[in-house]
Amino acid sequence: MSRITPSNGLFPMDYHMHTHHSCDAHHTMADMAQVALARGIREIAFTEHFDPKPEDMCAGCYDPAPYFAELDEVRHQFAPLGLTIRAGLEAGEYHLYTDTIQPVLDAWPYDYVLGSLHWVGDHSVFDAAYFQASAAEETAAGYFTELARLARHGGFDVLSHADVIKRTSYRVYGHFDIADWEDLVRPVWQACIDNGIGIEINTSGLRLAVSQTQPSLPALKWYHDMGGELLTLGSDSHRPEHVGFELATAMDLAREAGFTRLCTYERRQVAQWIAL
Ligand SMILES: [Zn+2]
Ligand SMILES: [Zn+2]
Repeated sequence: MSRITPSNGLFPMDYHMHTHHSCDAHHTMADMAQVALARGIREIAFTEHFDPKPEDMCAGCYDPAPYFAELDEVRHQFAPLGLTIRAGLEAGEYHLYTDTIQPVLDAWPYDYVLGSLHWVGDHSVFDAAYFQASAAEETAAGYFTELARLARHGGFDVLSHADVIKRTSYRVYGHFDIADWEDLVRPVWQACIDNGIGIEINTSGLRLAVSQTQPSLPALKWYHDMGGELLTLGSDSHRPEHVGFELATAMDLAREAGFTRLCTYERRQVAQWIAL
């Protein structure tokens, strides 16, 4: 049995946030780290967007050299204050752009790599027109089938915002219940478990109309009951005020789903198990 570290009453992690190194965020790492420190978070990861798909708004924006230069500075600034800062990345469509993403992962000392799916073929999962033109069954089947391909491909540490289509689905269809898609989600979880890929509870959905974590309780229970153990928390914040957003809610959900611990990452390996 791996040693489990008590959480000491603080929030163990916020492992999903973006700074000006992402195309859709504008704040410095220090701006975000300052809030994390003030809110009692022990570890954070800056998981900037790296989206090679040419149609993606972030395509061509990510540059690891200035990212790691700034990271080095804030690590020195905040380590003495008790905040650990991990080198993260949110890689888009890794299974389709391995030749672009893998050399970057090999060349730089990342701690934690999220695998994300923002596109189903040439349809963005945030494109309301695509959802309006298709039935809920089609958009869900298209998304989760592609997500299972990504998870089967592997090569990253944690699957990001696993049911992200809920954001647009809810806006367009007025409804999203993951229980409707259990048969589509379980193969994704199986692929994650087979490949040693963890999942995150992403709290950003609680800031949106759908008002659910990504994923929500039923899907967390399936992953746990199928034998999934690797779980992290992330706010997906793009600005300081969202750092640590609803982490207590996420921890409650994790416990309710049956988890007793979270894991931290260092240099692409599980570093510690933190008691929930
Ligand atoms: Zn994302
Ligand atoms: Zn993100």
